Amino acid sequence: MLRVGVLALQGDFREHINSLSSLNVAVQKVRNPEELKTVNALVIPGGESTTISMLAKRVGLLEPLRKFVKDGFAVYGSCAGMIMLADEILDGRSDQETIGGIDITVRRNAFGRQVDSFETDLAIKDFKESFRAVFIRAPWVERVGSSVEVLATYKTENNEDHPVMVRQGTLLATAFHPELTNDNRVHEYFVQMAKSVSSVNS
Ligand code: GLN
Repeated sequence: MLRVGVLALQGDFREHINSLSSLNVAVQKVRNPEELKTVNALVIPGGESTTISMLAKRVGLLEPLRKFVKDGFAVYGSCAGMIMLADEILDGRSDQETIGGIDITVRRNAFGRQVDSFETDLAIKDFKESFRAVFIRAPWVERVGSSVEVLATYKTENNEDHPVMVRQGTLLATAFHPELTNDNRVHEYFVQMAKSVSSVNS
């Protein structure tokens, strides 16, 4: 059975656990390297990426998380989780480290302070109906590498299209928070992705 871990250092990990719990997978918190060893997929929640990064370092999880990604396990990050999975960040704290893995550059708090939080109906590739996406001090993607698939974009007031949902192989990231809605389709998509990955954690 798929055992999905939710990184539970800071942020809205409880909401991700709720979203996953209806999807016929085992779900558990991951707070240290030992707990990471017992899961074969991982969700990184929204929250504050500087804090998540700092705490991950403190509990000795940063390198094991990088190895988890390199070993080909499925990982999904929402908002701060997207930042954690990005190879490069803009407007980060100078000492802010990410796990990396997705060949993208994300800008933190990209939507600006005036539009701190908002909701919009987003068209997501292969989703039959639009998705009500909740953005909270969200990042957006400014550069996408050639092996990254863009699954959804958001059009800004200046008519610029910015990717807000991307996938690279076993890694998935959204700038928005599906865990804050009752719509489980993004989590379902991730679980399907994770099930098709053959890696088994030992
Ligand atoms: N602005 C936060 C950060 O930089 C992300 C916000 C969120 O996860 N809702 O980490």
